[in-house]
Amino acid sequence: MKDCLFCKIANGEVKSEIVYEDEMVTAFNDINPKAPVHILIIPKKHIAGVNSLEEKNRETIGQIMLVAKRLAAEKSVSESGYRVLVNSGPDSGQVVEHLHFHLLGGEPLKPI
Ligand code: AMP
Ligand code: ZN
Repeated sequence: MKDCLFCKIANGEVKSEIVYEDEMVTAFNDINPKAPVHILIIPKKHIAGVNSLEEKNRETIGQIMLVAKRLAAEKSVSESGYRVLVNSGPDSGQVVEHLHFHLLGGEPLKPI
């Protein structure tokens, strides 16, 4: 996807504070953090959002959740608690159309 911001972050064209990377997944600090820990975990290959998921994405989505667990431990929020969430569509407030999982923690989060 030529004009996708998160594709550009995944391929290094746009700079970001990358905190984890492997062949399937990139994770980086959110530029406008809503909590002391606010990391975005994305598939390297473009997927627009939850509505676009296919069977072939199963392993990538599993890997994203394992990376969320790992980063929560690295950021010392495993026990204090954290939230992993995905926005989908206008009512959720999704603004970037490249699937991203928010990892939020480091303080008590507002109930959803
Ligand atoms: P969403 O509302 O779920 O689409 O979330 C998009 C998130 O991307 C927001 O929390 C933004 O702060 C974040 N964001 C936008 N641009 C960047 C960027 N260049 N680097 C890091 N995070 C970004
Ligand atoms: Zn993309």
